[in-house]
Amino acid sequence: MDKFKKCSFCGRSNRDVRLMITGLEGCICDDCVRNANQVILENTKSQNKFSMTDLPKPREIKAYLDQYVIGQDAAKTAMSVAVYNHYKRLQHESEGKENDVEIEKSNIIMVGSTGTGKTLLARTIAKMLVVPFTIVDATVLTEAGYVGEDVESILSRLLQEANYDTKQAERGIVFIDEIDKIARKSDNPSITRDVSGEGVQQGLLKLLEGAKVNVPPYGGRKHPEQPFIEVDTRNILFICGGAFDGIEKRIAQRLNTHVVGYGAVEHTAKIDKNNLMQYIAPMDLKSFGLIPEIIGRLPVLTHLEPLDREALRNILTEPKNSIIKQYVRLFELDGIQLEFSPEVLDYIVDKSIEYRLGARGLRSIVEAIMMEKMYESPSAPVAHLTIDLEYAKQQLEKAGGKIMNSGD
Ligand code: ADP
Repeated sequence: MDKFKKCSFCGRSNRDVRLMITGLEGCICDDCVRNANQVILENTKSQNKFSMTDLPKPREIKAYLDQYVIGQDAAKTAMSVAVYNHYKRLQHESEGKENDVEIEKSNIIMVGSTGTGKTLLARTIAKMLVVPFTIVDATVLTEAGYVGEDVESILSRLLQEANYDTKQAERGIVFIDEIDKIARKSDNPSITRDVSGEGVQQGLLKLLEGAKVNVPPYGGRKHPEQPFIEVDTRNILFICGGAFDGIEKRIAQRLNTHVVGYGAVEHTAKIDKNNLMQYIAPMDLKSFGLIPEIIGRLPVLTHLEPLDREALRNILTEPKNSIIKQYVRLFELDGIQLEFSPEVLDYIVDKSIEYRLGARGLRSIVEAIMMEKMYESPSAPVAHLTIDLEYAKQQLEKAGGKIMNSGD
């Protein structure tokens, strides 16, 4: 009797389909499963559609960021405003007001040492907005025709994130990390060809200002036969981040030359030499090697503060999914109540500073301290487990060398 199964959806018999799945009351063929899946996907996409009425205000965006990112108020405020304006702009366009006043895009550039939270900020904001979001590394980009990736590959990643829904991708967010690595290598661009510097900046410019770009859907050049997908980047928000190592020197130089003359002494006294990054201005990016056109297309320039001891200590425990909270939860799943004595937390921070790993080091240090317990505890669970300073020191000393090398 099995021979004559029929799909309850399309009515075809099992002889006409590849696979028939039998349920209690009926059957479904593989084609109908696929179609049903498509319907579900379409439905979820339309539910994710952006609506201006539930777009959070800048203050709310900032409050959300505060739950995950410690400090960095200047960057959070700039980002909240830029993202809010970006979506207001989308709304303006969708209401057909393009001929009215044209609101320009508010792409962002964040400058700050590695591990200060640039990626975390971008990631957190994308999570809040439920838009396709991707992180790309500018170091792999080269000018078209050279070894490396074409600039357009940035959008392949975004398309993948959007499940190849072009409309969704066209309002997504792209975080371009290490933008400083495509700075012009020398002041005289004509000496040698700068295929990973100025050439890439020129390519990127097109994307930043908004253009219809042919994107290889699967990225790279490995699939030459793939048909291109046209993506309009006009409404894609680009957030760039970079450490711009050594830019403080240029900021200092600029500040010094500007304060010569009347009132100079008074002005110099106000400059906080320990944190020059806060005075960053577009001209510093130019002297670092970004071309003026790119700087012009990144109108929101903001900086991230170096993380001090107190910030690192807060990062360990305060964010909604802080490292310590994650470990406590891990052990809770085995029925163990985990606690860290306060001196251990200070010790972890001290070590991270000593190893010069900043916030990135915190996790690897906690991981090293907890490794043995994570191995043993599930087989011999206890109700309470307190990690004290002596134990933490002992475990970290065992793993010391490994952590020193696990920076990035
Ligand atoms: P960047 O992009 O600036 O190099 P990341 O955002 O990747 O740095 O930060 C690395 C890790 O350090 C993050 O995953 C996070 O755990 C932690 N971190 C860094 N800065 C902060 C911060 N301001 N608040 C909370 N966590 C932070």
